[in-house]
Amino acid sequence: MKVGIFTVGDVDLRLLYRLACGLEERFLYKFLIESSLSAPTSAFNAVKKQYFAPALLNRIKVAFPPEIKYALGITRVDLYGVSLNYIFGDANADERIALVSYHRLRPEFYGHTTENTLLFDRILKESMHQLAHVLGSKHCYNQNCVMYYSNNIYDIDRKTSLFCSECEKKLKKAAAYDRTKD
Ligand SMILES: [Zn+2]
Ligand SMILES: [Zn+2]
Repeated sequence: MKVGIFTVGDVDLRLLYRLACGLEERFLYKFLIESSLSAPTSAFNAVKKQYFAPALLNRIKVAFPPEIKYALGITRVDLYGVSLNYIFGDANADERIALVSYHRLRPEFYGHTTENTLLFDRILKESMHQLAHVLGSKHCYNQNCVMYYSNNIYDIDRKTSLFCSECEKKLKKAAAYDRTKD
């Protein structure tokens, strides 16, 4: 099972390799760094100074190569969604594409000093969360579980970068089902 990681716009590559390793360890899928895509200018809202997330998901859909099963897009640009002022990430299960923006995951965004470990932890959690949505997982009421719905950065920091046992069980089932279709 292969998951392709796409960058949309400028992204720190070191971060990406580290992320691929972290995700492989947790999902036991193979994560490959795929092509870098440009952020579509048509997705930019000049008033909000943000990009419309579904348009970025669509950008990835167009670039989706046949040899991969799922895609994860990572971007630095700030995202908004349908009736949501800002979002940390988005997922389209039908198209098998997850998307994460680290714009609001950066400690600098909240006036704090740059901290790479904290930033990485947050990106890992958000990537796990969105990918699990693509694999069919829903939100979880366990505040420590990575599938807990995060409304703000404090929610993200409070939860762990792990699935609770219930969510883990469901994901394993989904992965096993996936393998039968390969
Ligand atoms: Zn969610
Ligand atoms: Zn859970």
